[in-house]
Amino acid sequence: MTNPRIETPAWIDPKTFRLSEACYWSQRVPKSLIVLHATASASARSVFEAWKSPSSGRVATAYVVERDGRIFEMFPPDCWAYHLGMKDRNPGHYNDRRSIGIEIVNPGPLRPDPDGGDSLNWWPKNFREPWCRLSEPEKFVRRDYRGYGYWAAFTPEQEEAVRRLTEHLCRRFGIPRVLPPVSKRMMCDPDFFCRFAGIAAHQNFRADKLDVGPAWNWDSLLDAAQPGAKAA
Ligand SMILES: [Zn+2]
Repeated sequence: MTNPRIETPAWIDPKTFRLSEACYWSQRVPKSLIVLHATASASARSVFEAWKSPSSGRVATAYVVERDGRIFEMFPPDCWAYHLGMKDRNPGHYNDRRSIGIEIVNPGPLRPDPDGGDSLNWWPKNFREPWCRLSEPEKFVRRDYRGYGYWAAFTPEQEEAVRRLTEHLCRRFGIPRVLPPVSKRMMCDPDFFCRFAGIAAHQNFRADKLDVGPAWNWDSLLDAAQPGAKAA
């Protein structure tokens, strides 16, 4: 259900990176789910460049959140595009259609420099591109997950932007503002998440995906103004 009285607020930028109608499905669908992704890149422009070609196969998300917290709307959020890439348990792309995808700009997993330097590197040039130093603990999270041990941190501006954006989208589309139970957040469990309404992540639908990843602070999505919003 869309609340037609709620319009796109001024803090969302619908112009800078706008996909043509050939890059998504303009059919309007009821929404019951928000799915968080991380881009495995360093800028919103990088995903826009990848998605804007009509030959990209209508792969996109409605929103991309830049490192500095700017929110770009790439297509109308009541429409849809492929963003989960599920091979089964997704008849008629049911989960892609019922969800609003949010890509958060983040390089993803990091590895200690293979040449022995003190940097943590991200994937370009086979993990030889420095992202931060081991002496900068605010810039990474140390946690073993799906084959990697270090993860680039999200910025406080991104946490605030995604909190604001999800709050707005839940109100506008009647999506429950709830998170998965703590025990499920890092798991792939399609049986559970195909029935879940609320805010989930790509890793919940596919075991081979690394996003949104362990650096994301789920509790930043809720705020004191929403008592009872926290899932059991
Ligand atoms: Zn993803």
